[in-house]
Amino acid sequence: MQFYPFTIPSFVNSLFPNLEWRIKNPVGRQIFLTFDDGPQPEVTQWVLKTLKEHNALGTFFMVGENIIKRPEIMQEVKAAGHAIGNHTHRHNSGYSSKLSDYIMEVKECQKYTQTNLFRPPYGRIRTNQIKALKDDYQIIMWNQL
Ligand SMILES: [Zn+2]
Repeated sequence: MQFYPFTIPSFVNSLFPNLEWRIKNPVGRQIFLTFDDGPQPEVTQWVLKTLKEHNALGTFFMVGENIIKRPEIMQEVKAAGHAIGNHTHRHNSGYSSKLSDYIMEVKECQKYTQTNLFRPPYGRIRTNQIKALKDDYQIIMWNQL
């Protein structure tokens, strides 16, 4: 598989100051690895194995419905010391969700993830959704794809 890194332009970061695009005050040269949409059979386990081989930790932004299907994989992720993030209950796009529905989807996923880390699926989140979530969650975006 070929990997083509893509850097999010920094002006995008400044348009959304309540979203986290990069870690502030990193210690030395650090990168934070994140993995979305699991837990998924095979894929998540392959990621766990690969991270272990490199003695690396990551953050897994999980979808509530997937956790219900494969709770044992989530337990494997936690047991290996990785962080868990909330990625909504059904991988909802903020652009096509009413505020109340979106918040409900985040809260439903929260029952399983119990974290203050949240990543909006597809990176699509509206200003009113950010406002409703920012006091309870660190909203984590990314700066490399
Ligand atoms: Zn996703």
